[in-house]
Amino acid sequence: MRKVIIIGSGPAGFTAAIYAARANLEPLLIASSVEVGGELMNTTEVENYPGFPDGIQGPDLMSKFQAQAEKFGTEVVYDDVTSLSLDGPVKKVVLGSGAEHEAHTVIYATGSAYRKLGIEGEERLSGYGVSWCATCDGFFFREKTIAVVGGGDSAMEEATFLTRFADKVYVIHRKDTLRASKIMQERAFANEKIEFIWNSEVTSIEGGDALTGVTLRDTVDGSSRELALDGLFIAIGNDPRTHLVHDKLDLTPEGTIWVDGRSSRTSVPGVFAAGDVIDPTYRQAITAAGSGAVAALDAENFLADLEDASVEVPAAEAAAIIA
Ligand SMILES: Cc1cc2nc3c(=O)[nH]c(=O)nc-3n(C[C@H](O)[C@H](O)[C@H](O)COP(=O)(O)OP(=O)(O)OC[C@H]3O[C@@H](n4cnc5c(N)ncnc54)[C@H](O)[C@@H]3O)c2cc1C
Repeated sequence: MRKVIIIGSGPAGFTAAIYAARANLEPLLIASSVEVGGELMNTTEVENYPGFPDGIQGPDLMSKFQAQAEKFGTEVVYDDVTSLSLDGPVKKVVLGSGAEHEAHTVIYATGSAYRKLGIEGEERLSGYGVSWCATCDGFFFREKTIAVVGGGDSAMEEATFLTRFADKVYVIHRKDTLRASKIMQERAFANEKIEFIWNSEVTSIEGGDALTGVTLRDTVDGSSRELALDGLFIAIGNDPRTHLVHDKLDLTPEGTIWVDGRSSRTSVPGVFAAGDVIDPTYRQAITAAGSGAVAALDAENFLADLEDASVEVPAAEAAAIIA
């Protein structure tokens, strides 16, 4: 029986592991079988993570997170969690290999996935002109011509924010009206640097080592045309990875896992959540790391309370609680 099992190997999961390991909780971290290191494995230069004034490549940053977690005794398993049993004092975690692990507490840090267009050039040029995060990458596009794909609030917010850097920001939208709230629309319409390209979808992303443009298809007459660009921001939504806990933990209207105030406590005692899976707003490496630390501290307090309670219950019962 483990004290704590952490699910997810992004900034939230590994930070929770560093804190839990240094508190002698001997955490087991389930890292996933394919995407070890989380979303930052998909990017190149990270310039806004404190402590690296010259920037650091996303994968290098994540290998440092992992090295620090392992240095203090975190055990990392390269597998996916396929099901969970979270009720009661003993939590059960089942992996793709069929292995089962039990723990008193679980920290759920599975992140969230930016929706993709699923078109040619998108994966290959990710970090080389294609981005999903204006806060992260806007700075790289000073005095450039870029486009934002999407018609919702986040697309308007990204486009407006990006005009701080870029000379020109196109907003490419499949329809001739926006889903975004009135106020966000008006702000974007009033911005001289923003030009809307209506009734158009991106069908492929062009470029060798870096993005040079996109091909657009007119959704009304079906015609195609090229648009030269230095950058493309995809803002068509985000899906918190909650499918394993839909019927087990309370969710928010935005689809993130509900937590109690500023804590990481979910609706089930002994289950804590951290990182982008609880965050509909900020979704940054540093905020994910911060909430990973909160989750480890909350788990530590929960375990301490369990131990205190065991002093007050008969020995046989206590043995069952604290294995
Ligand atoms: C292209 C790109 C560039 C970015 N650039 C920056 C930047 O420059 N600066 C910045 O601050 N932020 C940046 N971000 C945002 C940042 O990456 C995220 O905010 C951060 O990674 C969230 O951390 P997390 O630990 O919550 O989740 P994630 O990093 O998404 O990690 C979640 C982990 O959980 C694992 N997982 C999911 N399901 C399971 C399962 N069933 N079993 C086991 N494991 C599972 C995943 O495989 C993954 O390893 C960028 C994001 C993207 C996509």
